[in-house]
Amino acid sequence: MKYIKIFETYSSQKDLEELSSVVLDYYTDKIVDMIESKFFVFNYNKLPVIELSQLNPDIYNTISDFVKENGELQFNIVGRKGFYNYKNGEKAQYIVDKDNNQLIQILGDSIFSDGNSIVDNINGHIDKWDGEWDKTDFGYSSPKYDTSYHKMVDYIKRDIDIYHSSLLHELQHAFDNWRSKGKYQSSNNKFHDNETKASLIRSKESLDEDEQKFISKHYKDYLNLRYEVDARFTQAIKKIEFHDVEWDLTTEYSIGDFLYVMIPFEKVFKSFKRLYHGYKDLYPKEKRRVDKKLGQFFEMERDFIMGRNIKEVLKNETYSKKSYKFIKNLLLKWERENLK
Ligand SMILES: [Zn+2]
Repeated sequence: MKYIKIFETYSSQKDLEELSSVVLDYYTDKIVDMIESKFFVFNYNKLPVIELSQLNPDIYNTISDFVKENGELQFNIVGRKGFYNYKNGEKAQYIVDKDNNQLIQILGDSIFSDGNSIVDNINGHIDKWDGEWDKTDFGYSSPKYDTSYHKMVDYIKRDIDIYHSSLLHELQHAFDNWRSKGKYQSSNNKFHDNETKASLIRSKESLDEDEQKFISKHYKDYLNLRYEVDARFTQAIKKIEFHDVEWDLTTEYSIGDFLYVMIPFEKVFKSFKRLYHGYKDLYPKEKRRVDKKLGQFFEMERDFIMGRNIKEVLKNETYSKKSYKFIKNLLLKWERENLK
């Protein structure tokens, strides 16, 4: 039973990752459309609001009901002024009101590490791209144009992708709100009472010791909200490498060209602690919970690559006659030796 539950969590997370890619690809396409229609100055204000109902729910394993039942969940890209309750460092946020109107806002004027805003960067790519290009010539008359065009599209895709992790985080909140039938929202409301007090204190010019303590305790409480922990977990997992590829290790048995190998758990755990933002501020109970969940995900990933390895092996004609069990044992033995 427990296995099924954690498997669902694992699988829904993969789906949510895909969903955030779909949303961002949608926006990339829109931007490219704008450029193709010779609308050369990019501004996110001109990008449309989209709804989950516009996306295909059938491509997911675990979250298709969520997509179907939350058709009205909207996404939009706004500037800092339109960004509800802006606090430093956020690139996106999930807002749900008491009537269950839901919105994920993406902060369009996010600043990159190079100090440019997304608008500057995208307009820069457009400028660098050969302006002589004519739509009727696209891709046919000159391969040079084609290349620069694709390069530009790649750059835009890469820029838009800086939102992937934040969007995934917010989608996890939306999914948890749906899955818990609104408990996400109510736990947030409880926290919200202190939030009002905290923002009052934050607006003061100087804080006394008690006020400073209140603020840092309040921030810690936020980091330890169950749903915040889960969303941050999802975000960290997305960035973690669980496996590596090993070439030609099995020449002795001559099966396939390469196999996936698990990265040792200690290494994975180390990068998890680095990639989970706010890990050191987790209360011991939450720390234990995320550590355990990471262990469970590690097992899931192991099963996943085992399946892939087996498929790889079975693709090989000579070995397809051998029994599945034999290959599986072989891989298990091989994995044991490699994982120690
Ligand atoms: Zn959050």
